[in-house]
Amino acid sequence: MKIVPISVPTPFLVGPVNVYLIAEDPVTLIDTGPKTKVAVEALREGLRRARFRVSDIRRIVLTHAHEDHCGLAHSLRDEAKDAEILVHGWETGHRAARLEYEEHRQLLVRAGVPAEDIKSLRAMYQSVREYADALEDHEYSELLDDAEIEFATGSLRVVHTPGHTPGSCSFLREADRTIFAGDCVLKRITPNPILSPDPVDPTKRFRSLAEYMVSLARLRALAPTLVHGGHGEPVTDYEELFTRYLRAIRERQADVIRLVPKAGATAWDVAREMFPGTDDVHRFLAVSEAVAHLDLAHSEGKLALELSDGREVYRRPSAGK
Ligand SMILES: [Zn+2]
Ligand SMILES: [Zn+2]
Repeated sequence: MKIVPISVPTPFLVGPVNVYLIAEDPVTLIDTGPKTKVAVEALREGLRRARFRVSDIRRIVLTHAHEDHCGLAHSLRDEAKDAEILVHGWETGHRAARLEYEEHRQLLVRAGVPAEDIKSLRAMYQSVREYADALEDHEYSELLDDAEIEFATGSLRVVHTPGHTPGSCSFLREADRTIFAGDCVLKRITPNPILSPDPVDPTKRFRSLAEYMVSLARLRALAPTLVHGGHGEPVTDYEELFTRYLRAIRERQADVIRLVPKAGATAWDVAREMFPGTDDVHRFLAVSEAVAHLDLAHSEGKLALELSDGREVYRRPSAGK
């Protein structure tokens, strides 16, 4: 199986995204890059260097539906004359490029975000949305856990690895235990568990960090020799990264618990303590991160949680109670 990585620039702080061309029948792209002119040009150039054209693409497989990964899926599909798009069914909100604003708004209210900040976060949602086209239900096929994506000389197995987003998927090449992991595994940064509605019950919050830790362990059980992430260089020592991630999660959790005062705090309060003076995008990531860690601490019995005026307030359990 010939794998050609193509680095595609993004307008986001994370930097370029890795698109992977599987140069074998049916010619397949894993992820696409965002919907920008420079991204299309970089992708075309990468394909050209591998002696392919957009019209050769038969299949577009998405690790998840963040704009930097899925933005060009629709237009590439059209240009390649109905190439098939595959994405997990739990990527609903993102896939439709409308980020289910109302559901998100409710999650933000519960996390204690003040109304005026929700307004500016809304503007941020809308500006990010421009980097991807929506996919209608009939325009993609669902990736199912454990399914095989077949190629002329082998296959990739779908491994559902929720956490970063509910429908994040990794793809395992069993022959040499190579994994494409999207934003589940990144060499230089610990991925953000992004605040999302639960795909099964959107009135609830997706337990991103707890799910993410299960996904990391699931990948570990596959004993990968090489992991191609969505950004940065490939990971050759997954065991080291796994240990490092878990340590970082535990350290961050301890910090977060320390930031909860006696009187209690919302995720918004904790996020502002953790990352003071950040802009909109980062404020959203900060709230996501705070919620993820507070939820995990709550599910592990380290924090109590109660609803007060429609906002969730976390407290440290008092001794003796
Ligand atoms: Zn992502
Ligand atoms: Zn990404």
